[in-house]
Amino acid sequence: MKKLKVMSVIGTRPEGIKMIPIIKTLQNDPMIESVFVNTGQHKDQLDQVLNLFSIIPDYDLEIMKNKPSLEQIIATILIELSKILDKEKPDIVLVHGDTATTLAGAQAAFFRQIPVGHVEAGLRTFEKYSPFPEEMNRQVVGKYTTLHFAATETNKLNLLAEMVKEDEIFVVGNTVIDALIDVSSKQLEIPAHIRSIIDNPYRTILLTTHRRENLDELNDVYKAVNHLIKEYNDIQIVFPIHRNPVVRNIVSSSLPKNPRIHLLEPLDYYVFSQVMKHSHFIITDSGGIQEEAPALKKPVLVARKSTERIEGVEAGTLKLVGTNTEAIIKESQKLLDDSGYYHSFFQNKNPYGDGKTSEKIVSVIKNYFSS
Ligand code: UDP
Repeated sequence: MKKLKVMSVIGTRPEGIKMIPIIKTLQNDPMIESVFVNTGQHKDQLDQVLNLFSIIPDYDLEIMKNKPSLEQIIATILIELSKILDKEKPDIVLVHGDTATTLAGAQAAFFRQIPVGHVEAGLRTFEKYSPFPEEMNRQVVGKYTTLHFAATETNKLNLLAEMVKEDEIFVVGNTVIDALIDVSSKQLEIPAHIRSIIDNPYRTILLTTHRRENLDELNDVYKAVNHLIKEYNDIQIVFPIHRNPVVRNIVSSSLPKNPRIHLLEPLDYYVFSQVMKHSHFIITDSGGIQEEAPALKKPVLVARKSTERIEGVEAGTLKLVGTNTEAIIKESQKLLDDSGYYHSFFQNKNPYGDGKTSEKIVSVIKNYFSS
């Protein structure tokens, strides 16, 4: 019997973390032929994740060689992926989330009239420029999609509001929990400089910031961090800095040298998951971290104006604080001083699933093609 050919297209670290559990499930299924295309949008950071999970792409587009613009990235993926689609003729193309890779991958498949499966479908802020350009990427990809894999009921409602047919939406949880369970089961070496940060007695605030729409306000976030470091002598800040040079410039002009502020290169996923586990709480504008931290029972202050992870806010595991210096200081003080408040963040269960999302997605795909 002819195998079902499923092509997965990813290019960034978060896509890798969240799609590798699906790619592994596809590769282990005897009824499926898996084809994995890496666009190379975040080459170094994705390569770290691929090495960690021992996954090798079938195609590597290496699109970032000549420092392309966003427009060039999308155009190159469209052109190069279309050639691969013509050669491989997959039955379905899977994309994830809301990146340039997602947008171009879905469009290339749509142009060949190949069904698109969208993983992490239905996330919405309904604000065109927040996050930018991700919100619009995911809305557009939703139009190309045939199978929408929504993490939560809220995400499903968002899709229904956009007139997506109910029988094309599957609420399956988020594969980030599958990845976190997998990575947590590993026992790997942690670099000595990180080990010494994890093992010291300070309470750790883990900080990550990279959202494009936040760049003008990052200074306000860092001011808050600076204030906290001066006020509390029992805390440390661990800050793996995104590779975006604009973020790096703002960091170097806003955060003073301090032995309790650890400015680090992006950490590989295993090490980062260990730092999350050892942190007291997290301040971030990241999407994925908002889903992982509740599973690890870590409070998250979300340094963004809006979040599409509204169920995390409703469950009380995330607090939307924006980028205002005072607001970040006030919430951080409460988390540092009030243990009752601290524990109120994880009274409810993690809204993002049970770690079986990849199996559910693969089974939906098989059912779709067998019926
Ligand atoms: N992450 C990582 N190393 C780091 C920072 C983040 O492995 O130094 C992981 C994190 O655990 C999460 C993902 O990268 O799974 C989130 O990526 P990012 O914040 O860049 O993107 P977003 O989720 O906002 O799209």
